Parts: sequence; structure tokens; C-alpha cells
Amino acid sequence: MDQLVGWLSVLIALTILAYRIKAVDVYGAFTAVPIGFITLSFGGVSWFLALLSFFLLASYFTKHKYKQKEFAGYSEKNRGARGWASVLANGGLPALFAIIYYISGNNNLYLFCYAGSLAFALADTVATEVGLLSESTPRSILNGRSILRGHSGGVTLRGEIAAIAGSLIIGTVCGLLFSSNIGQFIIILVACITSGILSTNADSALGETLQCKYRCAVCDKYSETKIVHCNVVTIRDRGFRLIDNNMVNILSSFVGAALCSFFILAFNNLR
Ligand SMILES: [Zn+2]
Repeated sequence: MDQLVGWLSVLIALTILAYRIKAVDVYGAFTAVPIGFITLSFGGVSWFLALLSFFLLASYFTKHKYKQKEFAGYSEKNRGARGWASVLANGGLPALFAIIYYISGNNNLYLFCYAGSLAFALADTVATEVGLLSESTPRSILNGRSILRGHSGGVTLRGEIAAIAGSLIIGTVCGLLFSSNIGQFIIILVACITSGILSTNADSALGETLQCKYRCAVCDKYSETKIVHCNVVTIRDRGFRLIDNNMVNILSSFVGAALCSFFILAFNNLR
């Protein structure tokens, strides 16, 4: 009990710090505390450190060259401070895997699901944030058509390289935290790289096919959410009404978890 109170205090202190440096807004902070607490209580310290590393790295890349992205008009809103939906879309599934891991009596299958969902989250964030700085036109991953910068579904070479780098970083973090020998380290690293890259591309494909897109009836400009443009409310053009950017992120997070979990077979054969 004392330990839980101690952890909760550390967690609240870290969240206040994250709020002060504008990595989360007030609602994001209130969402981050329970997610961190669940991960810490059910997964343990290593699990929490992996989540914390993701959050620090993601915040760094979101704020990286923010002025340049803001100037070009496709930065994250709110100076890059994450709101509750963004925190939940990236941290909700990992926290759920921590609970299932605990219930299953520490079955490593769910550790791999956890690592895979974090690999997606970081690879996707880095690919998006670094890809936005790309000089080249984003292309559809499905048919090569050019796609408006900052819109879902487009990929650039720079974004792809960034996804590889993001997967490599989180894979190294998870490998260091969750392995007890070099063989296990390599399997976790390869699992994270594979699932991070593939799920980020799945995210682009899902964003292009399923995600709801709106269009201004006056000037034909596309938007990802229902907004007022040219004094009229944008209308749904394609995609499913219920599937917004955060929903696509959650689906892709599942893809990352599923892909990573395959590597449990190699991991179990090793031990
Ligand atoms: Zn318009």
C-alpha cells in the first residue's frame, strides 16, 4: 500500500512536470495519471519506464522544429501539448495489456503485445512529425497518388526512414528493459522494428481507406474533422463516420501488438 502511494506521488509529480513543459494539456494530464498508474501497478517498473521513454521521445519529436511545422500550417494544435484523446489513443491499449499480463500470471505474450503497441506509437509519431518536414509530396501507400501534406494516408521516404528510426529506438529501450540475455534482446529488438514499421504503414493505409474525410462544398478543400470553411460546415466525403484519426491509431496499435506477439514463439524457443 505504501509503495502504491509512493508510486502515485512520483506519477503525479512527473505529470505536473509534463504539464509545465506543455507536453500535455490539463485533460491529457488527468488521462496520463491513471494510464501510468495502471501500467506501473500491473506491469511493474520496467513496463512503466518503457511507457515513460515513449512519452518523452514522442514529446521531443512533436516539439522538434515545431516553429517550422507551425509556420507551414500543419503542426499539432495547442503547441504540441497532448490532449486526453491523444494520450488515450497511444497509452490506452498498452495499459490494457498490462492488466491482461497481470491477470494471465505474467504471460510474456502480453509483454510482446505491449512492446508492439509502444513500437507503433513511437514509430507513427516520429514518422508523422519528421515526415511533415519532408520537402517531397506525400504519396498514397495504396496507389501512389499524391496526398495533401498533413493528411492521413500519405507517406514520404523521410517519414519511412523516421518510422524505422523510431522503431529502432523503442526496440532498444524495450530490449534493455525486458531481456535478460543478448538473444532475448535481439528478439525483442527485431520484434519492435518489424511491428513498428509495418503498423505505421498499416496506419497510413487505414487512414486512407476507412478514416472519415470531410470536404468544403465551396472550395473542395479536405479536412479531417468537421469544421467551418468558407462560412459553411464541411460535409462528409468518404470513410466511416465513427472512424477518426484517433480510432485509426487504436486500430493500428492493435496491428502493432498482433505483429509483435508472433515473436513470442522465437522468444519461448530460446529459453
Ligand atoms: Zn472552403
